[in-house]
Amino acid sequence: MPRKFHLEIIATDRIFYKGDCEHLVITAIDGLVGIMAGHEPVVTTLPAGELKYMVDGKWHYAAISGGFIQVMPESSIILADNCELPEEIDIKRAEEARERAQERLRQKQSIKEYYQTQAALNRAMNRLKVSQKHFK
Ligand code: ATP
Repeated sequence: MPRKFHLEIIATDRIFYKGDCEHLVITAIDGLVGIMAGHEPVVTTLPAGELKYMVDGKWHYAAISGGFIQVMPESSIILADNCELPEEIDIKRAEEARERAQERLRQKQSIKEYYQTQAALNRAMNRLKVSQKHFK
């Protein structure tokens, strides 16, 4: 069993997870990154994506809608806008959010609106992916 490190996943509305874990895999800007105890210090932003962490040999999955991570050798802290378990994701709501964003992308928008719509689309697509992959 790998050595444990402390993990905190703090969303805007709740402490999603606080405790030890053996392995953390995040979706960073440039792809998946695995983190174990002893990792070198890093601070980076997190786009909307999937994350998974192993506790006592069992993987736990979540959809994160963007945030930051601070990695230290013995602890990692994720500050997330929102974080949901696969079974908490309302698929119909995410499909509607995806359709709204896709419809807005077909219309003329300012650059700011375009980025907001793209972000909404990414959140919806990520929720759908995480729920379909991990909630049977
Ligand atoms: P929507 O347009 O449906 O509100 P959104 O991406 O704008 O989607 P967020 O601002 O990311 O929503 O989240 C607002 C709150 O709603 C958060 O508490 C988030 O966890 C929750 N939430 C958003 N979409 C879903 C979903 N499909 N299933 C479960 N919870 C959701």
